[in-house]
Amino acid sequence: MIGIFGGTFDPIHYGHLRSALEVKVIFGLKEIRLIPSAQPPHRQLPATTALMRVEMLNLAITNQQGLLVDTREIDRDGPSYMVDTLSSLRQEFPNEPILLFIGSDAFNHLTTWHKWQQLFDYSHIVVMTRPGFDSPIYDDFFTDRLSEHRTELAQNTAGKLYFQQVIQLDISASAIRNMVADQQDPRFLLPDPVIAYIKHHQLYKRH
Ligand code: ATP
Repeated sequence: MIGIFGGTFDPIHYGHLRSALEVKVIFGLKEIRLIPSAQPPHRQLPATTALMRVEMLNLAITNQQGLLVDTREIDRDGPSYMVDTLSSLRQEFPNEPILLFIGSDAFNHLTTWHKWQQLFDYSHIVVMTRPGFDSPIYDDFFTDRLSEHRTELAQNTAGKLYFQQVIQLDISASAIRNMVADQQDPRFLLPDPVIAYIKHHQLYKRH
């Protein structure tokens, strides 16, 4: 089973890293691929270049076994639609269960994603929830795919929806960018080598 964790990672922080590690252990995954998006379809353009976001990801996962950076969204042209990413991963791993991890905030907007129903043709979707989170299942499409047992994910290569509680640290990339812009110290919210990189390249400064 492989796990996919998409995002802008502008910059990567301990909220991302902690939840990636937790689900890697819970689901017994051999690897988790962090996939930075090129042009996020749902957001304004990131403040940083794609190459810089990749370099920060690489700094963050140095010596972290089983975490890897996958640049396929940046390497291809056009908008970063997750359905295209999953389809290309499926070609590479025809028989392997693929787990797409998304935050509950992202799940709330899932039906606005490009060809969102087709995501389930290529992978399972695991929604990472906070303790006490009530799953907002309002749609038969989701109810039909909902799985209560983690083992079902290993028995199928794709097609299931699963909710997994994880510890969520209240850290966001936008809060970090604002701190840096306000010349506050973001230490302990993200890895030191990433902070050094941000300083060196003078990222997130106000103009
Ligand atoms: P921004 O603040 O710029 O919106 P972000 O911190 O939310 O950024 P993204 O790169 O947009 O980071 O998020 C990538 C994925 O990581 C999303 O699925 C998001 O739900 C999840 N995520 C973001 N922050 C956390 C966190 N603190 N804990 C767990 N998951 C997170």
